Amino acid sequence: MTNDLERMASYVEKHRKLILDTERFIWKHPEIGYKEWQTTQYLVEQFEALGYKVTKPKDITGFIADLDTGKPGPKFAILGELDSLMCETHPEADRETKAVHACGHHCQTTALLGCAAALSEPGALEGMCGSIRFIAVPAEETIDMEFRADLIKKGIIHYNAGKIEYLYRGYFDDVDIARLTTPTITTIRQPVREMAEWAVEFIQRSLDHEAVPEQFKLPVSLVKRNSS
Ligand SMILES: [Zn+2]
Repeated sequence: MTNDLERMASYVEKHRKLILDTERFIWKHPEIGYKEWQTTQYLVEQFEALGYKVTKPKDITGFIADLDTGKPGPKFAILGELDSLMCETHPEADRETKAVHACGHHCQTTALLGCAAALSEPGALEGMCGSIRFIAVPAEETIDMEFRADLIKKGIIHYNAGKIEYLYRGYFDDVDIARLTTPTITTIRQPVREMAEWAVEFIQRSLDHEAVPEQFKLPVSLVKRNSS
């Protein structure tokens, strides 16, 4: 097992530059749901350069690519989400669109490409069976809903969320297992239980016609992880 992991790690290492360049490109070109045309194009070019045959829906963003081990077995899907958030106050947000990858999807899609790159190495599929489907999926964040409502009205999409739209379009057909690539980014842990307890307390006080504070702050803690 350890040898297999070391072997895989060495394949990833071979693509270090491609992986890091991809992360920077996607970070610097954030696009929101169903508008990720540049991100899609960039990734398609990388996948094709690695020898993958890419299938793209003509009318919306994202794509899929398959890798067959040549042996019967399950179809394992790896997903990376393409879209960014919008956050005007983020220091690195796009000035015009307010888009920024504050949810870390730029790491997801980079990891997706990293997996595809590593698994394209000769011998990488040794000991595996079944097939792998890489899915670069659009529109995960529930924002900019007017635009999506318009796409639905025009009959371009049927669903607001990209994964459901891809399900509808059959891109998950025959998939036995699906995993989303999630980066271990530094996040904030909120005291959810305490928040709920205080909410109940304030409702109770309101019902008893007692004063409740307009603002109430609870301390949050930073969950630091080894990532940028
Ligand atoms: Zn997200």
